Amino acid sequence: METSLVKDNPLLLPLNKEKTIYDGFITVQERDFRIRIHLPPDRQVARSRLHCCWRLKHLLRGYEHIVKQRLQQSPDLVSFILELKTVLEVGLKSFPECRSIPPPQYYSQLISEMETLGWAKLLFINTEFQTLRLKAEDSSGREHILTIKLKSKHPAEAPECSADLPIPLLITWTPQSTLDQLYNQFLLVLESLTKFWDVLDEIDSKTWILEPEKPSRSDTMRRIAVGNNVSIKVEVDPRHPEMLPECCLLGAEHAVTPLRNKLNANMHLWNPDSSVLHNLRDVLEIEFPSPATHEKSTFSVECGICYSYRLEAAIPDHVCNDPRCGQPFHQACLYEWLRALPSSRQSFNIVFGECPYCSKPITVKMAAQKS
Ligand SMILES: [Zn+2]
Ligand SMILES: [Zn+2]
Repeated sequence: METSLVKDNPLLLPLNKEKTIYDGFITVQERDFRIRIHLPPDRQVARSRLHCCWRLKHLLRGYEHIVKQRLQQSPDLVSFILELKTVLEVGLKSFPECRSIPPPQYYSQLISEMETLGWAKLLFINTEFQTLRLKAEDSSGREHILTIKLKSKHPAEAPECSADLPIPLLITWTPQSTLDQLYNQFLLVLESLTKFWDVLDEIDSKTWILEPEKPSRSDTMRRIAVGNNVSIKVEVDPRHPEMLPECCLLGAEHAVTPLRNKLNANMHLWNPDSSVLHNLRDVLEIEFPSPATHEKSTFSVECGICYSYRLEAAIPDHVCNDPRCGQPFHQACLYEWLRALPSSRQSFNIVFGECPYCSKPITVKMAAQKS
């Protein structure tokens, strides 16, 4: 028994003459764990006790009953060690961070790379020294954050990078690459998006944005207030921010139709050398209400049914088409309201009924499930 133990696990050796205490290491997925096994005087494996290092203990948490069961069922120490290895392999799979504790040279490599890059750029590093957040500034002075997750085999294996961008962050990495080079690639990506953010920053500062509530750097959509219960949704292309964006006018038909006609008639006037906001003004022939001229409350009129503005993420964007009424409702509120009335008529997912405010005909589609 001892010889095969030595052969399979050269690091597990008896500590005493009686061969009741074995000490050493168990190797799983190229990682060594300290282990000690105390056998009773009759050397019955079923009644032996297992002592593990804290890391092994951590890994076996939740598997204790299996280990105990295997210990009781194993005919000898060798088969138990093999069973334990199987359990550990399963355990390691559910603890990816345990599997990837880097070798010592990883840390010296990281420190030298950070010295080249400059410590001032480091915003955060986690206690495992594997997740880094670096700050960067684009040429318009906007701050950005690059999150890097280094692999244990860094730099042989490419790190995972993420940032708040409207496009996927694609980084070229070779085993010779450094954090400094990675950072410079990120700066180039930021530069390629400067125009896109300039366009959106101008819109954000000079108009009232109804959606998203708090735009992030990756958001390409803006819903801009045009007037009372009228808004335009624009989708700016991050690669071609100066081009005519995808536009969608929202509000009561009588207010939206003239704007839609202007958009269609003036589309050809779109000038890529001018800013998107200027172009929108020229094409729609309107002045957008801005924080300088209007209070936001002018546009955030609450729903006529639930009396609130935001219903989860939705805003009251279903407006009564009667020009004298123009009451906004949440689509979901109006749908539920009309559906409950016997005077309403439903055809597929559309309900035909009367406006709860002015009794003029109103229709509403079942609200799409937000993902
Ligand atoms: Zn509502
Ligand atoms: Zn109405």
